[in-house]
Amino acid sequence: MTEASIKEYLDAGQGGFVAEFLEFLRIPSISTAPERTADVRKAAEWTVDRMHKAGFGEARLLETGGHPVVYGASPHQAGKPTVLIYCHYDVQPPEPLELWETPPFEPRIDGGCVFARGASDTKGNVLVAILACEAWLKTQGALPVNVKLLFEGEEEVGSPSLATFIEQNRDLLACDLVISADGGVGTPAQPLISMSTRGLAGLQVRVQTAATDLHSGNGGLAPNALHALVVILASLRDETGRILVEGFYDDVLPLTPEMRTLIAGMPLDADAFLRQNAIKASFGEPDYSPVERSVARPTLELNGMWGGYQGTGTKTVIPREAYAKITCRLVARQRPETVMAQVKRHIEAVCPDYADVSVQLQDGAFPYLLPSDHPGVAVLQRVLTRLGAQPPAARMGGGTVPVMGMLKAALDVETVTIGGSQGDERLHAPNEFYRLANFRWAQEVMAVYLGELAVSGLAGTTAVSTP
Ligand SMILES: [Zn+2]
Repeated sequence: MTEASIKEYLDAGQGGFVAEFLEFLRIPSISTAPERTADVRKAAEWTVDRMHKAGFGEARLLETGGHPVVYGASPHQAGKPTVLIYCHYDVQPPEPLELWETPPFEPRIDGGCVFARGASDTKGNVLVAILACEAWLKTQGALPVNVKLLFEGEEEVGSPSLATFIEQNRDLLACDLVISADGGVGTPAQPLISMSTRGLAGLQVRVQTAATDLHSGNGGLAPNALHALVVILASLRDETGRILVEGFYDDVLPLTPEMRTLIAGMPLDADAFLRQNAIKASFGEPDYSPVERSVARPTLELNGMWGGYQGTGTKTVIPREAYAKITCRLVARQRPETVMAQVKRHIEAVCPDYADVSVQLQDGAFPYLLPSDHPGVAVLQRVLTRLGAQPPAARMGGGTVPVMGMLKAALDVETVTIGGSQGDERLHAPNEFYRLANFRWAQEVMAVYLGELAVSGLAGTTAVSTP
């Protein structure tokens, strides 16, 4: 039986796969560090070699304006759905180094976990994707569906080249479904299906009231930039946290009773979170639960404010300028550029006449919501129910994974997430780790999922035909 032989293949090879994983982790592919550019490329080349070894006929580096993209594909089989598997091979910087128990690029196995920078985020999952395909190629001679692999090298610096790359390679990347391996499906004990992530819109505000700082003896005559900034910022939200920017909620999908039930069933304990972080009380729109607010409602947060004198003692000064940084988390179907424009307009409109304000638009990313009735979700539900101890729960994320919204906007395709990572694995922090049991389990989930897609297809989506 196909599934049994795939399982057997993965079990038999696991020792070798773990050894290869360690080899991959030894390459310090830190995308933000210019002195690591050669290492980032080395990790990309390592990935290409590993894809060839897995049996991918086509595997190569594609240049971008920054670090290269790794691309691979199986020979096209007409009439079968095409799946694009996404992940990234670059990693975060390891600093602060002194907090690592062992060096970040000298992987160590302890208690069934691999400790190294990039283990959970997300070199383990690059291998999960390759190995799931390899299990099919080596035991069945072919993949059950058409598979394209896309591994980027700039995820940890905000994917600056990816949108353009996707735009310029629409035909190459055309597919019926995306599987993001950058994440996880929970554990066999509690499988999870990722349904959404929030988007992002960032701005910086500068207020100016004079050409120079002034003696506060001029108070009453001269205006104060910090006070002007406070007036502006105080107008952005009311006392309950509702955002007062005109049009801000226009594109927000209302929470359906079905979604509220789904969120209520999420394994996320808001009270425990408050306790752990010594938070006196949750804050936000009173019509929504704290968990609903954190995954399915947009936010506007001040991230920094500065200006004036901040040293010890008193300085009798009237500051000439003041600054603030603001970010919004967005939910479906808000668009980052629309929200940035709305907030900018609001700030310019409420700025007191005695002050000048300039608003700089910064990072933007689309939110993503996987439609719960998408056939790819039903297939994943079936697979996880079969391979896990209980049916999967839904997970909605409060953070941002820009690539999903990017692929939806450019290729009009939905993304399901299948990987072996878990949120507690110290991603971006010292002593990052990845659970080897989950590494193995995710390979099986991914392989079985591909097979299941071939059987049930993606009815309701149109099959693409690429040569
Ligand atoms: Zn990351």
